[in-house]
Amino acid sequence: MENPLATTAELPSRTALSYYVKIAVSALGILALAGALAAVPFTPIGFSYIFILAFAVFAAPRMTLQLSGSNLTLSFSDAVVFFTFIVYGGELAVITAFVETFSNCVYLKKRRKESPKFFVIFNSSLAALIAAATYGVVELFSRAAYGSAFIELRLTDTRTLAAVLGVTALAHFFFSSAFAAFYQKLRTQGSFLEIWKTHCVSSALTHFTGAGIAGATFKVFNYGDVALGVISFIVIAVAYINYRTLINEINRSIANVEEAERQKADSERRRAEIEKARRKEAESYAEELCRSLEKEARANDALRKSERELQHAASHDSLTGLANRKRLNDILRDLISVYKQDPSATFQVLFLDIRSFKNINDTLGHSIGDKVLSVAAKRFSRVVNAEDTVARIGGDEFAIVLRGLATAGKAQKVARKIHRNITQPFSLGGNRVSIDVNIGIAPCDAEYDSPEEILRDADIAMHYAKERKDGPAVFTKELRHRFLERVRFEMDLRHAVERNELSMHYQPIVSLLDGRLLGFEALLRWHHPEFGNIPPNKFIPIAESSDLIQPITNWILLETTKQIAAWQKIGPDLADLEVSVNIAGRHLSSDDLSDQVENALENSGIRPETLKLEITESTAMENAERSISLLNRLKGLGVKLSIDDFGTGYSSLSYLHRLPFDTLKIDRSFVSGAGERGEDSGILQTIISLGTNLKMRLVAEGIETEAQLAMLRNLGCDYGQGYLFSKPRAAEDIEKLLYERHAWLPSSKDPAIELHSDSDSQPHIPLF
Ligand code: C2E
Ligand code: MG
Ligand code: MG
Repeated sequence: MENPLATTAELPSRTALSYYVKIAVSALGILALAGALAAVPFTPIGFSYIFILAFAVFAAPRMTLQLSGSNLTLSFSDAVVFFTFIVYGGELAVITAFVETFSNCVYLKKRRKESPKFFVIFNSSLAALIAAATYGVVELFSRAAYGSAFIELRLTDTRTLAAVLGVTALAHFFFSSAFAAFYQKLRTQGSFLEIWKTHCVSSALTHFTGAGIAGATFKVFNYGDVALGVISFIVIAVAYINYRTLINEINRSIANVEEAERQKADSERRRAEIEKARRKEAESYAEELCRSLEKEARANDALRKSERELQHAASHDSLTGLANRKRLNDILRDLISVYKQDPSATFQVLFLDIRSFKNINDTLGHSIGDKVLSVAAKRFSRVVNAEDTVARIGGDEFAIVLRGLATAGKAQKVARKIHRNITQPFSLGGNRVSIDVNIGIAPCDAEYDSPEEILRDADIAMHYAKERKDGPAVFTKELRHRFLERVRFEMDLRHAVERNELSMHYQPIVSLLDGRLLGFEALLRWHHPEFGNIPPNKFIPIAESSDLIQPITNWILLETTKQIAAWQKIGPDLADLEVSVNIAGRHLSSDDLSDQVENALENSGIRPETLKLEITESTAMENAERSISLLNRLKGLGVKLSIDDFGTGYSSLSYLHRLPFDTLKIDRSFVSGAGERGEDSGILQTIISLGTNLKMRLVAEGIETEAQLAMLRNLGCDYGQGYLFSKPRAAEDIEKLLYERHAWLPSSKDPAIELHSDSDSQPHIPLF
């Protein structure tokens, strides 16, 4: 049976309130005990009560059985108290309750390691108090139900006994459970009713069982004699011992089962823990694996990305983003091999070079130059189709591969479109920039085995277009032939000076009026060891484009001034002889020229005014403002200046009179056009008037006939140069004539004049 007192006693005293309650209960209980002791009638106490008390003190506490697996406690405490109550009345019941609980608590305290404060006195007092209250209720019930005091009732009547015991048990249960719930509520702050229902109601059974045992014992003692009582006691004891043995067995087996369950639970828990640890380990391993896989994936991605970037950088131009030469070569290699197998897979290669890009860089700076290249790249890409390739293959060199174009004519159309597009002016950093391109086209051909070959031919065509200045040019085998020759000449020309292959020829310039010798025009000659004499208009452009013209002209200046110095010394009549040296446009704009002229003057010792520099009209007018300053600088050295081939360029009159020329040389084409009947004399007349007005000396070139001489004389031209007087001659020939005081005018019938001398005959060598 569950013991409410034990439950109450186990509640730990945690608050001051419960502490005060404990003190109050103890005080009231001791009061109740004292009252009971004072009121107890000592007469009826005999041997039997002493036995009951002894049972309550020594046996009852040891007869308490706690059922394993439940909180039910079987106890004889209530039975002893109830039995005392119905046999001896309330006062002894109060004393018995106190004594029995006291011994019970002492017994429990011994068995426990620690117990709450006031454990023994509080529980004993509470038991006495509850017994007193119960006694009060039963007294009231007795008077109300039977009209007499409880002590006078005839309890031998079973119904009365049952009613009294029922009320006793009920009241006892009510007081003990109500106090237990109240005390619990004090400590846990829970709902009183809830605590009562959960923890206390179940104890009702204990009380009624106690009442039942008390009633049964009462009946046995009342209806049987002492022998029957003893027998009954022995039977109850045997039953109790059996019962206890059984209960012990049950408890043992329950304990065994519990132990087995506990062990099973332990091993399951351990297994679960091991399992959990393994799972955790596996999870962390999986996470680690995941992380390292992710890391690896990221590293792979970064590697792939940098590989891609590296590949892109290796195959593209960083400035324009276009394909570079390497990529272009790869593309062309593929196209060439496909074309060899399938002639319908045609393509055309364009080679593009930005005209005068060096000037843009020099005048506007390299960053503008870079932007110009970017603009050009965009414009090229805009014109072509998506499947075509635009590549930058050098500083200002681009290439375009046009796919699926069968003829060079179609490629020329695209090239012209590109040309139109690229020449549209645009503004860059506040500058209005316009660019132009030279375009060469090489159509696909089965003879090509490598990208270099087709690019080389497109480049050849581009160079041809550059010189011809007439739009895109298409490659032909003839062009390649010329190009290779040109390359050959360029190489040979580099060594021409040191190999003594260059020489000067001199052509006299004479007065048309009296035949007086004014001087000579120095004309360069190249005797090639294999091809013989090569005309200047073939090799001078090569010298100009390869920058060889400057050292060559320096050599000419030194050579001719030395020569004229020697000739000036032949006689006083020749002391003013002039020598005219042709200066190429490229050389004029270089800083070296004036130094070289000065050096030549110093070296030869000639008077500066006897050296004349010839600059063609087109060179002088190309950048007239710049020419004015360059020519003035030369003029400052004291030399004379001559404008050559006048009439073939586009002179601006306003510039013409600002340019510091002393002499105007009328181009041969106007003289040869002026025939016997005086054709073209109008233009000659105009040029002569212009020169006269500009206070320039006039020299007519290419006079071959006496009629031309006569006409020029009539038009008022001062001087002339031409085969009629002499072809350009080697220095030894001229020197001989000078010593002979040769008369240069034909009317003198001088036999030295050989109108059609073979000495200057030249082979025809096709060059650009
Ligand atoms: P240029 O300076 O106008 O020289 C005159 C050219 O006319 C010379 O040709 C001369 O031989 C030619 N010539 C003179 N009289 C007659 C004539 O009556 N009939 C014909 N058919 N031709 C005549 P060349 O020597 O072949 O020179 C051609 C051009 O080459 C020169 O034209 C000049 O521009 C250039 N050149 C020649 N020598 C040099 C040089 O030393 N330096 C530079 N930069 N250019 C030179
Ligand atoms: Mg000349
Ligand atoms: Mg000339």
